[in-house]
Amino acid sequence: MENRESANCSEPSASAAGNDVKQRCWDQREALPGEPRCVICGRYGEYICDETNDDICSVECKRILLDRIAKSQPAVPRPSPVKLPATDECYYVREGNDKSEAGSLSSDQVELLRRKLEISIRGDLVPAPILSFPSCNLPEKLLQNLEVAGFEMPTPVQMQAIPSALIGQNLLVSAETGSGKSGSFLVPIVSYCAKFNADKPHGERKPLAMVLTPTRELCIQVEEQAKLLGKGLPFKTALVVGGDAMAGQLYRIQQGISLIVGTPGRLIDLLAKHDIELDSVSILVLDEVDSMLERGFHEQVMQIFRALSQPQVLMYSATIPKDVQKMANSMVKDLTIIAVGKPNKPTGAVKQVVIWVDSKQKKQKLFDILTSKQHFKPPVVVFVSSRIGADLLSEAIGITTGIKAVSIHGEKSMKERREILKSFLVGEVLVIVATGVLGRGIDLLHVKQVIVFDMPNSIKEYVHQIGRASRLGEEGSAMAFVNEENKNLFRDLVQILKSSGAAVPRELANSRYTFGSSTNKGQKKRKYGL
Ligand code: ADP
Ligand code: MG
Repeated sequence: MENRESANCSEPSASAAGNDVKQRCWDQREALPGEPRCVICGRYGEYICDETNDDICSVECKRILLDRIAKSQPAVPRPSPVKLPATDECYYVREGNDKSEAGSLSSDQVELLRRKLEISIRGDLVPAPILSFPSCNLPEKLLQNLEVAGFEMPTPVQMQAIPSALIGQNLLVSAETGSGKSGSFLVPIVSYCAKFNADKPHGERKPLAMVLTPTRELCIQVEEQAKLLGKGLPFKTALVVGGDAMAGQLYRIQQGISLIVGTPGRLIDLLAKHDIELDSVSILVLDEVDSMLERGFHEQVMQIFRALSQPQVLMYSATIPKDVQKMANSMVKDLTIIAVGKPNKPTGAVKQVVIWVDSKQKKQKLFDILTSKQHFKPPVVVFVSSRIGADLLSEAIGITTGIKAVSIHGEKSMKERREILKSFLVGEVLVIVATGVLGRGIDLLHVKQVIVFDMPNSIKEYVHQIGRASRLGEEGSAMAFVNEENKNLFRDLVQILKSSGAAVPRELANSRYTFGSSTNKGQKKRKYGL
């Protein structure tokens, strides 16, 4: 029991109560106006109950208060606490007495927490989710940087992936677009590098971590976020992407950096031409891992992986098909698999509207949307399938609707791409027509509307593209134009729409391709040799 009036709160406890601690309720005086009142009897609340923080007048009322609480909460036998791997890298019980931290939870409670957060895990000794950043023994400056960045609480994927990564587990993580996956690998990276470099002079610092992503834009974004989180710490970054001069990138690495963020092609180029010591790289991240392990990138990624000395591997995407899971499993030992939410599904925060439009009518349909007060919700990203298509469509939008539109694709120079993206993000341009360069991972602040003008080649890419309309569960909308030309996607698209509760256009619902009857017949024929 704490005495309000004792300046240093020396806490005269009830058991050691001296004469000056009021034992009985009637020893206490009435409360004056504005004074705290005992929660039991209403007299002067001279003390604060150390167990409940309530105002109380005496030892007697404290006893009554605790009695009442005990009666209203029948005693339950506590299941045995979950055993967490001992490590000095990460601990789970926050100093102080915050009983809400996961370290003090029983295994049943941890399971319940995971169920609530829709986290499923596969692997040995997976630590409990963290409920706050300070519970993870992160450098103080990193905690401050997280606060400045507005990261008050970890997102569900961060809650589970951060403690797992901090204890060195190899991870394959799936969580919907815009759920904070980058933070869940950058926090452990910044923490590791800052601790490792704490007593190293600048010149002696070597690359300790590497993040590979499929596009230059995403690399730029990841590097920017890394810089933000590592500000003021012994942690520097280097961006290694095509389109920028290699000499500058090399110089930066030689100056002593901790993290390389790059696209596989340019990195291999750099490694082939220059001697860069990679022995110290202990963490390799494959962001958008399904794209990184697909045919286009697979060989390059493996080449880089083989050049490293068995690093911890962290792999992330919103879409992880089975074959990618197999590849990930064969790359590393003891893979921990973390899935948050429903795997391979679009974020529920984006309302999907699929519109059946003949190819010849698509442009007109787009102009109608862009000129409709009800439907146009700028800034808008329009996804198309080709570079030339992006240029032509952005021009046509300007001419026909008068709305300023720009295009972005892989044929433009890096300088142009940076400027275009900036003009869009600061609101100078309301519509951006993009190829897949903006499809994955890019956090397009303020964008709440995506129009998929040309359906991409796979339903996975569709999931990523419409994900640009939302981050952290904010509401967004996506319109997609579909016609017979996209028949190879019908079946998957209908499944996605149904599972999201979105309407399925009649033409799509009735199409024979949706039910795959022709394909099935074909398979039967082959099987029986007919
Ligand atoms: P993903 O990689 O899952 O698509 P990102 O890592 O790009 O998502 O994060 C999406 C957005 O959420 C970004 O703007 C990022 O700054 C923000 N964000 C991430 N984690 C947090 C957090 N813990 N608190 C607040 N904002 C966050
Ligand atoms: Mg991402």
